Amino acid sequence: MGTAFQQKDSFVDRSAVRRSVRLSWEIKTLLPVVLALLNGVLLFVVATTSFADPERHAILLVAVIGALVICFVLIVTLALVIRRPMLELEDKIGRVSEGDLTATVEFARRNDELGDLGRNFNLMVRQLRESREEIERLHRTQMSRAEHLATMGEVAAGLAHEIRNPLAGIAGVMDIVGRDLPSTSPAREVLKDVREEVLRINRIVTDLLETARPKPPEFQFADLNATVEHAVIFARQQALSKAIKVHCIKSPDLPMVEHDTAQIHQVLLNLVLNAMQALDGPGTVTVTVEVRGGLAFVDVKDTGPGIPPEILPNIFRPFFTTKGHGTGLGLSLAKRIVEDHGGKLEVSSKVGHGTTFSMILPISRGNAAAAVAD
Ligand code: ADP
Repeated sequence: MGTAFQQKDSFVDRSAVRRSVRLSWEIKTLLPVVLALLNGVLLFVVATTSFADPERHAILLVAVIGALVICFVLIVTLALVIRRPMLELEDKIGRVSEGDLTATVEFARRNDELGDLGRNFNLMVRQLRESREEIERLHRTQMSRAEHLATMGEVAAGLAHEIRNPLAGIAGVMDIVGRDLPSTSPAREVLKDVREEVLRINRIVTDLLETARPKPPEFQFADLNATVEHAVIFARQQALSKAIKVHCIKSPDLPMVEHDTAQIHQVLLNLVLNAMQALDGPGTVTVTVEVRGGLAFVDVKDTGPGIPPEILPNIFRPFFTTKGHGTGLGLSLAKRIVEDHGGKLEVSSKVGHGTTFSMILPISRGNAAAAVAD
């Protein structure tokens, strides 16, 4: 009787089974009945003192045969009523565990507790089937979207690459033309504006290229104060016409920090330019470098309008922007670069008061876990 169970060992979790002698349920059911019957027969034998009396022999025989018939009827009934559906259920569970979610049990049509069990089993399998179909559908949709995005990324990367070369040429020509112009010429102002626009396009195109084809950081121990200061000077040049103050507070006791200077420069430039763009009118952007517990902290704090809480969860998503001319790539790229350095980019913002972005970098890559756990 235990063979059917043994055959399906592949889907039975034996680790959850108590360590005891394994008895099939039929034996467990019949054992008390058989014991009770034997007991009755024994009592009868003991109560009848003499075995020589043939009349008592006959009564004893009838009692034993009666007990055997009762046992037989019980076995047949149990086999028909319980054993068959149990075997079927076991077989269907095996099929389901092998991935066949079309399996249903026949005894679900019965109008008793076993029928209830069968109906519940069929319902469970149907729900599993529906969930699997839904997951497969979502997977197919996501795969085709991912393929589409990958193709778009390749196209964008190719396009960005093609645009950057002529842009560098245009910027070079601007420089040469600007140098030849008399210092009083009004065309100088126009050239400056055009040069700034060229730089802006170059930045957007670079962001696009880096999003589509991310480059791993080229680590070196370098002065993070200097990287931060360069980015601030670069950003200040774009704020000359506005009443925006950009302060840079360096850390006097910062050791050399292992980082890709070009990539961290790009992160800070994005953060400072975002802060400047957020200021609607006069305001202040303060960039602070600090060292604490083996980590370097660079905070970019502005006195702008802040970020509404409903927007905050989206700002690091690629292509999310609230600006008419924005690409929505700056922060997603910045986050990825900081994380590639084993660090973290965090934001805290209060509407009406301003926003602070905090870049946390490990001093050396050996400390990366501390930066992420902090
Ligand atoms: P983009 O600058 O092209 O919009 P980003 O990824 O750099 O793309 O920024 C995404 C969005 O995050 C911005 O459109 C803006 O809504 C918000 N944001 C970023 N920095 C600030 C800031 N300092 N203050 C307010 N909002 C900000």
